Amino acid sequence: MTTTQPAATQAAARTVLVVEDEASLASTLSYNLRKNGFNVVSAADGLEGLHAARRERPDVVILDLMLPKMDGLEVCRKIRADSDVPILMLTAKSEELDKIVGLEMGADDYLTKPFSMRELMARVRALLRRTATRESDDSSSIRTGDLSLDLRGRVVVRLGKEVTLKPKEFDLLFFLARNAGQVFTREQLLENVWGYDFYGGSRTVDVHVRWLREKLEETPAHPRHLLTVRGVGYKFIK
Ligand code: CA
Repeated sequence: MTTTQPAATQAAARTVLVVEDEASLASTLSYNLRKNGFNVVSAADGLEGLHAARRERPDVVILDLMLPKMDGLEVCRKIRADSDVPILMLTAKSEELDKIVGLEMGADDYLTKPFSMRELMARVRALLRRTATRESDDSSSIRTGDLSLDLRGRVVVRLGKEVTLKPKEFDLLFFLARNAGQVFTREQLLENVWGYDFYGGSRTVDVHVRWLREKLEETPAHPRHLLTVRGVGYKFIK
């Protein structure tokens, strides 16, 4: 059996969340983003957009300013409370631009309608490049859609709220998160987190993982970050 794939499909496609209530513009955006290799999630109002941002954890959000149910600025502020995802605001009139800049709602960039799809793609790619640089430059902090870990300050924030962790809980979480996607056996975790001279069984690891899940996972019984790999150990998924 061969598992050879073309290089283009090996890299995970980036997901763009489009929050736009004008149906024709929303479909034009989706069509062009997909054509350029992106996964697209769409939302037609602000509330749906906010939920989609939290649920789908997109790599970029394209957010219209004037939206039904919750306006773009409010959505932007709420997304920013617990996520670093780059946000590109779309505005209908040029004067709204001043409002965004003035309010400093945390948008990373903005485009005034009408704009060309070429311009939009350039902005989206620039935002993704900026995030990639930020991630590789700063290994002392780790961010996922709902979690933010700061090694220096030893602070963990979940959905905008600080979570209190015991020292070893933090050490274990940070070790796994820094090596996200990699599976570790309980013995490896004991060595790396507790140290060679620790007198305790591998159950210590299980207990700490359970505590962490209770503090960090929305549904501890069905974790989405701290996963059990049956017969092997644990891994962290962003
Ligand atoms: Ca609109």
